[in-house]
Amino acid sequence: MKTISLEQEINPWEAQSARFNFAAQKLNLDEGLWKVLQYPNRELIVHIPVSMDNGKLEVFTGFRVQHSIARGPAKGGIRYAPDVTLDEVRALASWMTWKCAIVNIPFGGAKGGVICDPHKMSMGELERMTRRYTAELIEFIGPEKDVPAPDINTNEQTMAWMMDTYSMHMRQTVTAVVTGKPINIGGSRGRREATGRGIMIVCDQATKKLGLRPENTRVIVQGFGNVGSNAARLMAQAGYQIIGVIEVDGALYNKHGIDVEALEKHRASTRSITGFREAESADPAELMLTECEILVPAATENQITSRNADRVKCRILAEGANGPTTAAADEILAEKGVFVIPDILCNAGGVTTSYFEWVQDRQGYFWKESVVNEQLEDIMVNAFEDVVRYAHTHSVNNRIAAYMLAIDRVAYTIRQRGIYA
Ligand code: GLU
Repeated sequence: MKTISLEQEINPWEAQSARFNFAAQKLNLDEGLWKVLQYPNRELIVHIPVSMDNGKLEVFTGFRVQHSIARGPAKGGIRYAPDVTLDEVRALASWMTWKCAIVNIPFGGAKGGVICDPHKMSMGELERMTRRYTAELIEFIGPEKDVPAPDINTNEQTMAWMMDTYSMHMRQTVTAVVTGKPINIGGSRGRREATGRGIMIVCDQATKKLGLRPENTRVIVQGFGNVGSNAARLMAQAGYQIIGVIEVDGALYNKHGIDVEALEKHRASTRSITGFREAESADPAELMLTECEILVPAATENQITSRNADRVKCRILAEGANGPTTAAADEILAEKGVFVIPDILCNAGGVTTSYFEWVQDRQGYFWKESVVNEQLEDIMVNAFEDVVRYAHTHSVNNRIAAYMLAIDRVAYTIRQRGIYA
């Protein structure tokens, strides 16, 4: 691969494009379809006025990018963060297209984001910003068009506000416009834990493949938000040894395994993982590079780059976050023989259960949690097997196999529909 600067390396759009181009080339993808799938279909930028608690008006910039609607309505989360960029949202929208194709659910891909610092905003400010952002997207979204969901710094409450705002404009309650809602207003049982559960399911498959048993499998989880904490708790319950947890404000290590439920309680009461007595405090950057069987980056992008990939000491890299590994780091990990479960497969349990939520809302009939979890397991196991088989047949690594499988499925659909050009 060509040499690039660190700045380029950590641009998520570059990370997406590098893998897309490589996979498309391997697939011998038709030049026209290559051009169609390379860029998002639609990109919307909105500048949202919000009345702040101090009486002043503030204007926030937001995005919604729809990469593809070839296989169904666009689908993907919305993140609130100070460093959101259009390139990042573009990359995340494309990843949603590939992710939905890998788990074979009838959605395209989209993503949204608002540049703001939600930790410095009151609930009232967040609600007003969310409602105005939703209102600005009113023609763009809808159960048959584009279905948002939570992502970094957004949650069930954000989705409840979005659903309500959309419904007020439509003059009727439209629960299927967003997923990841509270259960009481059309959310699905099991959705909150779904991304973490999906990670556990693919880790079970990967450990089996490598001849490991959960009891002898040490796991380090980076990020203790919705994805990381649920993955850690479910994996601990399944017998894995969670020896490390890394957060922005500190890290914890216990070679005998951390009691994840106790840590969750500690975090709920102190708002931080630090000060937890039943584990030693550790240096976050060093803990990322500590020996373990499974490393689960479940925080943000660009955690494993050309700067540290050679020092990663895990056998399995289970990417809970979107884009935690740069394209340059892929090559280093491949040389080291790390078994990578790429993000677009590994964290697909979230959107898969979002699909179940959308189906339940449209059916008006809600499933038991055991049914949700069973269906999720079935889909994740099949997707894992499809990707691993593809890697084997085409002699490529798991990430490229995942892209090839996804691009192939989307391209097949486009060919079948024909292009209105
Ligand atoms: N934000 C999650 C993701 O990146 C969930 C998307 C969804 O459920 O639509 O996969």
